[in-house]
Amino acid sequence: MLDNYTPSWMDEDLAQFREAVRRYTKDYLEPTDVEWRENKQASREAWLKAGELGLILPDLPEEYGGAGVSAAYAAVVIHEVAYTGNTGLGIGMNHIVGHYIARFGTEEQKKRWLPGMASGEIIAAVAMTEPGTGSDLQGVRTKADKVDGKYVINGSKIFISNGQMCDMVLVVAKTDATQGAKGISLIIVDCNTPGFRRGKALDKIGLEGQDTSEMFFDDCTVPADCLLGGKEGMGFYQLTEQLAYERAQIAIWAAAAQQRAFELTVEYAKERKAFGKALIEFQNTRFVLAEVKATVTASRTFADLIIQKWADGTLDASTASMGKFWLTDRQCEVVDKCLQLFGGYGYMREYPIARMYADARVQRIYGGTNEIQRELVGRLL
Ligand SMILES: Cc1cc2nc3c(=O)[nH]c(=O)nc-3n(C[C@H](O)[C@H](O)[C@H](O)COP(=O)(O)OP(=O)(O)OC[C@H]3O[C@@H](n4cnc5c(N)ncnc54)[C@H](O)[C@@H]3O)c2cc1C
Repeated sequence: MLDNYTPSWMDEDLAQFREAVRRYTKDYLEPTDVEWRENKQASREAWLKAGELGLILPDLPEEYGGAGVSAAYAAVVIHEVAYTGNTGLGIGMNHIVGHYIARFGTEEQKKRWLPGMASGEIIAAVAMTEPGTGSDLQGVRTKADKVDGKYVINGSKIFISNGQMCDMVLVVAKTDATQGAKGISLIIVDCNTPGFRRGKALDKIGLEGQDTSEMFFDDCTVPADCLLGGKEGMGFYQLTEQLAYERAQIAIWAAAAQQRAFELTVEYAKERKAFGKALIEFQNTRFVLAEVKATVTASRTFADLIIQKWADGTLDASTASMGKFWLTDRQCEVVDKCLQLFGGYGYMREYPIARMYADARVQRIYGGTNEIQRELVGRLL
């Protein structure tokens, strides 16, 4: 779409990898969008195939199931998956949780979880948000009390992506309820542990193919070695560091969705006739699409900066947060403008642009709301 443009982080190997990802998305994501939305979840088959092709956590060292390549490979996967408009496959969560473990986990934790997460056999979730608190993470009330050398977890979580399908969940809990940030720890919970229970898949206005759920912990007791990194009170620090990568993923996703919306709309505007001519022949249509193209181009180059920084290890919190709020705000504007050019068809779920419109909205909410991102950027000025 961007004429004669190759991002600085792209090379021959990555371009070949991208072709392999595109073959996968064509076979496994394009045909399944509607079905997954009806089922409210993706298929295990698609997860396993993604793992087999090396699309999950490619940037882990080989000994843990990755390919030892740069994060640009993970970015390519996110971009290509997002571009399909099928938002059901939550492999981004495996990327996020996998990196928490790779970065902070003990050797045993890495060996126990990472190879299965990279192969798609283990689906991961991260459970921060609770019914009573989302933006204010220090306010979490889920407790993990140390009893007889084990952690006994009690509390509930809400809006957890991969909540129905996950095999493990990284839980944000208070190991010291008298403390704020310093009382927070991250605990790895195997979903087969007694006392862990899932609510039903939540009914959402978009992203219907993703299994977002409530989770309940009732005296859910795990061995002490499930504490991420083996040290209590490190959770807030661990979250602060890793959330930048989650936000980077959301930003890259937003750029890909914009590009797809633009391309679908140009195609439609050339075919659809009104008053005896194609929509594209109206000056208003061309002006709107010119605006959209400029926005998509700016978004693409911003996303490329984020990918470049992510790949070379220099991604900072401020850039990730700016990318998250700016690109997702643009995503919602772009998809809205594009939908308008589809007229009534744009409001029909049968049309991808309608599904993209509904899917886009949550991008400004999860991963830390866009208001919180502005706060974070503002604080670092
Ligand atoms: C589809 C979906 C998937 C999700 N997946 C996950 C997941 O996998 N894991 C997980 O833990 N969570 C997940 N979430 C939860 C998501 O991250 C939270 O909903 C989000 O962080 C906001 O928290 P909240 O809903 O409690 O809103 P609140 O924190 O109650 O915020 C309500 C409003 O107040 C604003 N606000 C709050 N504080 C401030 C402030 N200081 N300054 C200015 N404005 C403020 C917010 O921006 C927002 O507009 C998901 C949510 C959805 C909808």
